[in-house]
Amino acid sequence: MAAVSDTKITALPGIGEARSRAYARLGVKTVGDLLYHYPRAYENRGDVRLLTECDGLSKCAVILTVATAPRVALIRRGMSILRFRAYDDSGVCEITFFNQDYLKSTFSLGSTFRFFGKVEFDRAKMVLSSPAFEPYTDGCSLPPFTPIYPLTEGLSQKQVSQSIAAALSLGSREIVDYLPEEIRLRNKLCTRISALRGIHFPQTFGELAAAKRRLIFDELFLYALGLRVNTRRQREAGAPLCSLSDLTPFKTLLPFTLTGAQERAIKEITHDMARDIPMSRILVGDVGCGKTVCAAAAMYIAVKNGCQAALMAPTEILARQHANDLIPMLARVGIHGELLIGAMTASQKSKVKQRLEKGETQFLIGTQALLTDSVEFSNLGLVVVDEQHRFGVEQRAILARKGEHAHMLVMSATPIPRSMALALFGDLDMTRIDEIPPGRQKVDTFLVDETYRARLDGFIRKQVSEGGQVYIVCPAVEESEKQDGSEVFLSEITDFGISKKTPPLKTAVEYAKEIAEKFPALKSAFMHGKMKSSDKERVMAQFAAGELDILVSTTVIEVGVNVPNACLMIVENAERFGLSQLHQLRGRVGRGTRKSYCILISDSQGEKAQERLRTMCRTHDGYEIAESDLKLRGPGDFLRDAAGTLRQSGGINFRIADLCDDSELMKLAFGEANAVVKHSPDLREFPLLAAEIQAMFSADGSSIS
Ligand code: ADP
Ligand code: MG
Repeated sequence: MAAVSDTKITALPGIGEARSRAYARLGVKTVGDLLYHYPRAYENRGDVRLLTECDGLSKCAVILTVATAPRVALIRRGMSILRFRAYDDSGVCEITFFNQDYLKSTFSLGSTFRFFGKVEFDRAKMVLSSPAFEPYTDGCSLPPFTPIYPLTEGLSQKQVSQSIAAALSLGSREIVDYLPEEIRLRNKLCTRISALRGIHFPQTFGELAAAKRRLIFDELFLYALGLRVNTRRQREAGAPLCSLSDLTPFKTLLPFTLTGAQERAIKEITHDMARDIPMSRILVGDVGCGKTVCAAAAMYIAVKNGCQAALMAPTEILARQHANDLIPMLARVGIHGELLIGAMTASQKSKVKQRLEKGETQFLIGTQALLTDSVEFSNLGLVVVDEQHRFGVEQRAILARKGEHAHMLVMSATPIPRSMALALFGDLDMTRIDEIPPGRQKVDTFLVDETYRARLDGFIRKQVSEGGQVYIVCPAVEESEKQDGSEVFLSEITDFGISKKTPPLKTAVEYAKEIAEKFPALKSAFMHGKMKSSDKERVMAQFAAGELDILVSTTVIEVGVNVPNACLMIVENAERFGLSQLHQLRGRVGRGTRKSYCILISDSQGEKAQERLRTMCRTHDGYEIAESDLKLRGPGDFLRDAAGTLRQSGGINFRIADLCDDSELMKLAFGEANAVVKHSPDLREFPLLAAEIQAMFSADGSSIS
């Protein structure tokens, strides 16, 4: 990366200690960080309206000519108001500014400006107070979009804009384009510098769209490349040979017989482990198909062959659940396992670590914290990663390093299409479990509309009074800002224009309040993706412990958490969810002996929406559902859902790319990344790319996730 990118932002004019601390809170430390501090939206100043068209809108752009000379009046001590009138073809508006007497000379009689602000309709009068303004001359075109940056205390829009402009001019000569020219041209991408200019200060819509396209491509391309290069495992000898593979004693521990699919999966796993080339296998299978027992079998084999095993879950609550299942079970055949999680005291942890180092502990269950350097295994031979899609790139890179020669088994319940799996999981071998254990109850699924509300409320009461628990899922966290075109979100810029996203309807936060009022006798709580993960875990744990009757939530309900008592899943605005997502949600109930139900609420009349939701009522097969979803909605939306869980949980967190909207670019970017790695696995032939990837994964690795 060019040196300028690594320069501290204090090198820029106007940024001293205080401001640099403010920037640090936004994660911006270097000039490079600043360049990639994208606007979150743009003021749509290009959408100029007549004054009379502004009624009811939040902010508008108007082009007005000054009709009266500005006058300054003192309204009280220390507060002055500057006032003048200005007009367009539709009417006259009063414009006011507070404590900005110096503007008097700016607004000379007859001069024209583009103003941007909220036009208040005060009886017959129109008033625009403290608008943004730019001088306007006929025929000149002003930039249509003004960036709105994520801010923090101590920073203003103007200040951030100025710093970024300074960073751009400082960097303009030094910012090299790491993307090989050939790839850039083949994919019709603009240069890196023009992308950076275009995203911050677009002069035209086309510039903005082209900038966004290039930056998304880069993000996806570098991500795929980084994944390939950093998690590439040595396919060389050096792994512990685990050739003792008699599972008869293990099977006597199980209260059930393995399904055919489980037998096959375990066979592939033991076959891999019997070789000295480290296993790199991903085990995918629908929720509830019984992946854990396959992992347990692998751990058993590892231990029987004198190795230690580690099982990592994405959350503490899942780790605990695995520990409760597996530690007592394997203890019965004399295998000693322990749990290590953040919630334990320091002395507990250090004891666990000591026993592990000495080799007294044969397997360890925990969260990603198992990857920290202070955890030392005496002889790690197998690493199992549960719900793999929720681990970020860096964790996987560390994992690849830490268990360099260990066998690795990852497990995922997300039905992910092959093209995507390839990018996400690199070159793992894949085993599919395509069979659900027998005797599993079907979750009765119904599609209803608003007219069923009263009956539904009664149903909730009935289930709870019989001792059941209820999940209610809504699409989003909070009311999205009123969208009337005054702001354009970066996510809405497409190659073809601005595509407005429809705002969500029921929101978890307000809906949770409603529920609490409607069912005062029931204990309810809510949970959403913007909560701290420790808070989420606390709520989830309360629900799992039966302390709550109703859990209102967005889709963040923990993947894989078992609450056998939960028997009713209600999904509001069900048409907003992908089928695979609905399927995952439905998998949260029907895990115990209670008869369970899933109620999909939708008022959507759309033919397709109805058809999709009816698929849910008809089948319980995750892959059939995934396929039908793919067919009905196309790959874009499908991918978003497959990746949805990941983004929410911080697994993948792109700055600008959206795996749904950008599925076309994703294909291009992943394809190019594949080709590059194939051609030069260690990137030796692409030194600029190698440096970029290196920078991305070094230090905190925060540039991508
Ligand atoms: P997942 O694949 O979603 O991780 P789990 O491993 O948690 O699924 O298994 C779900 C439930 O099914 C567990 O309660 C487990 O004990 C049970 N189970 C697993 N395999 C079988 C089987 N062959 N027969 C009956 N029950 C099984
Ligand atoms: Mg599981």
